[in-house]
Amino acid sequence: MLKTKHGSAFELGHMTIEKDGIQCTCGKKGCFERYASMRVLKENIRKEYGLGQDTHSRELMQILGNGSLLSNTLLEEYLNNLKIGIANLIDLFEPEAICIGGSFAYYENLFLEPLKQKIYAEHATFNERKDIDILTAKMQNNAGIVGACMIN
Ligand SMILES: [Zn+2]
Repeated sequence: MLKTKHGSAFELGHMTIEKDGIQCTCGKKGCFERYASMRVLKENIRKEYGLGQDTHSRELMQILGNGSLLSNTLLEEYLNNLKIGIANLIDLFEPEAICIGGSFAYYENLFLEPLKQKIYAEHATFNERKDIDILTAKMQNNAGIVGACMIN
């Protein structure tokens, strides 16, 4: 474990993936979490389809998977942003596996295979790594609370 002076290292959601990008709550612009979090994805679906805040995640994900041009565009944009951040992490840490928790894990049928293809096939990483396991957390939304993902 790496101990840092202020304990504020590894704020991975706040690494910049877009120069002069969207304003983040941390004060910076273009942070990873402003482009690749499930919260932002859901906000974008609600905005583009004119849906209220009370629209359930399950319904939003059904819309995202409906195959329409707009849904496919939203999904593609989300996955491309996620690919950038994860590829940066792969280049930094050279992990054996990437395990994604949170509500992403509930909808892995929509996200996981296309994300793998983007990371493996589009020269996303320095060494064009194709041997990294990209998985969802068995603990799904509780993975962050527990601090471990456990592999499915
Ligand atoms: Zn930020």
